Amino acid sequence: MAKEQKRTLVMAKNYYTEINFLTTPYEIYELIKSPKRITLATDGGAIPLKGSLGFVVANEDGTILLTCYGQPAGHDPLSFRSEICALLAAARLITLIKDYYDTTMSCNEPARSKTQIYTDSLSMIKKLEAYDEYPTAHLKTVLHSEWDVLSALHKALQCFRTKPKINWVKSHQDDKVYDIERMLIDAYLNSEADELATIGLKRLQEKPIVPMDPNTSIQFHIEGRTITRDFKSTVREIIQLKPLRKFYCERFKWSDNIFDLIDWDIFRPVYKKNISKKGIQWLHKFCIKKLPTGERIHKRDHFHDKRCASCLDDEDDNHMFQCTKRRSVRKKFLNQINVLRNTVDTNLCDIMQEGLMAYFKGECMSNTMFRIRGKKGMGRYKNLIDEQSVIGWDNLLRGKLSKEWRIQQKAYKTRLRLVDPIEYDKIKRKKKRKQEQQNEANNNKTTKSKNKIEEFHGFFQAIVPIILEMWTDRCIDRNTPVLGGRIVAEYDSLSKKVTHYYTLREMVLPEDELKIFNEDLKVRLDDTNQQLKKWINRWKPVIDHSMKRVKELAQENSKPIWQHFTANKPAKTKVSRKLSKQLKPKKYYNNPLTNVYTRLKKKRSSSRVLPVIKKIKHKVNHLISTLYNKLGKKRSTSREQTVLEVGTQMIDDRYGDEPK
Ligand SMILES: [Zn+2]
Repeated sequence: MAKEQKRTLVMAKNYYTEINFLTTPYEIYELIKSPKRITLATDGGAIPLKGSLGFVVANEDGTILLTCYGQPAGHDPLSFRSEICALLAAARLITLIKDYYDTTMSCNEPARSKTQIYTDSLSMIKKLEAYDEYPTAHLKTVLHSEWDVLSALHKALQCFRTKPKINWVKSHQDDKVYDIERMLIDAYLNSEADELATIGLKRLQEKPIVPMDPNTSIQFHIEGRTITRDFKSTVREIIQLKPLRKFYCERFKWSDNIFDLIDWDIFRPVYKKNISKKGIQWLHKFCIKKLPTGERIHKRDHFHDKRCASCLDDEDDNHMFQCTKRRSVRKKFLNQINVLRNTVDTNLCDIMQEGLMAYFKGECMSNTMFRIRGKKGMGRYKNLIDEQSVIGWDNLLRGKLSKEWRIQQKAYKTRLRLVDPIEYDKIKRKKKRKQEQQNEANNNKTTKSKNKIEEFHGFFQAIVPIILEMWTDRCIDRNTPVLGGRIVAEYDSLSKKVTHYYTLREMVLPEDELKIFNEDLKVRLDDTNQQLKKWINRWKPVIDHSMKRVKELAQENSKPIWQHFTANKPAKTKVSRKLSKQLKPKKYYNNPLTNVYTRLKKKRSSSRVLPVIKKIKHKVNHLISTLYNKLGKKRSTSREQTVLEVGTQMIDDRYGDEPK
């Protein structure tokens, strides 16, 4: 018994930083033994890497007998762990006081008091209820977060003779009530516990190691920290983050602390979503400055031209954005900043716009930032400007934003609320209602995710496709054969086409004109071939249609010309192309003038041309042969063959190999 008591004491000791008895400890022991009610109110809180706890012990009337603050141990505890530890610490302290006086006074009387617990953590209450469902329920949660303290707490509560009653209390009720006397006991005790926890949070340092509690059976330590939750991701972070951080610092030439200035919560989701959808290749190379730009390839292969295909300057990582031939793409970035303007602090948007534009133009950053800082009311953004400058404005396009962006945005919203709380709530309610209506409308059609994306996260997500498109264009421009060859010829023809379309400017509808010809011809012609092609493909049909429409409208609006004159019906403008039926030419043979001779072959038209060569078939006339035969003579064979016998005709044999 004594051994176990000692162990509990050791285990418990690490929670208590300062215990304040407002009465004698013995009085508390008496209360525990009496059939009265003893009240515990506990609270826990956490900030990154450290947590704190506070609790008070009070009697039935709410008179506080004891206060205590301390902290939970473990790597980066969340408030859930702090809440559990707070209750665990309180329950253990009661048990310790009871056990101490029981042994010193060798008293065997059971503790008759009832215990009432107030906490503001609903999830803890639920979890404890789940543990009570069946005897081995807690074993199912061994690998769950905070299993060590939860199971310990569950055990500690079972040591009480009557099972403690746990009630949930709404936290921070003291914010609204100014008269503490009139607050309910539970709310009052909770606010006291909360205050103690806040003291703990301010005074105490991080405590990453949890002393081994034999009841826990197993603990997980890595790099001098006890991991109590989210095992998989925490372990991954601890193991992988170090080399990654080193890599980033070397790659971007950052000093050590810069890595921590970056708001990775903006970068991470976009990066993850993109590589899962479109593959890791491009985005990864872009994000760590490894795209195969002219200069980079040239380093490895001297035959590779390091110049930009569009403007013939050397092409490095910045050139993609700074290329003078790609100036028109900058508008797309501006559009995205304008989207931000709907909700984000105007000053933040201005800083972002100025910063990006200065980067695009290749201007001196420090001068630009100096100018911005000089403006009125910009003092509070000093940190943001400094941090983004060391991170790099080009890296802002790579999703590396300083944490200050979100911090300042949050502060801006708070300021809005403070200036006019009533108006602010009104606007907020209106927006909420509008969104609910929209959601309902959306739900009817498709079940879209209602998760609202945070502004800067949305900005990065929107610019990634723009940059990808830029890069794709650049590759097409570059890999179209040889510099000065086809690409120049192509540019020539494209620029001619574009110039032609610009001459049609006054022939389209005015509302279309603004959309189609939103840039001067001169600026437009600065674009790369791909951009010109895209412009033509996009607007050619629009120009055609618009011109057609102008014609149609003109027709509707104008009088036909004959109405300007006195005529009351339109002049005949159409001439029938139908030819009147011509008489057949007279047959010449009916003409008495030519009808002198009788024609032999009446059927044949005289106009028909005879084929040039025509084998004339005829019957062989044996008349002469038969005549000879009758005379008893043989007909000489030496005579010439008849001309008509074409088939057997032959040239005379001059030199004669035939006997004469
Ligand atoms: Zn260029």
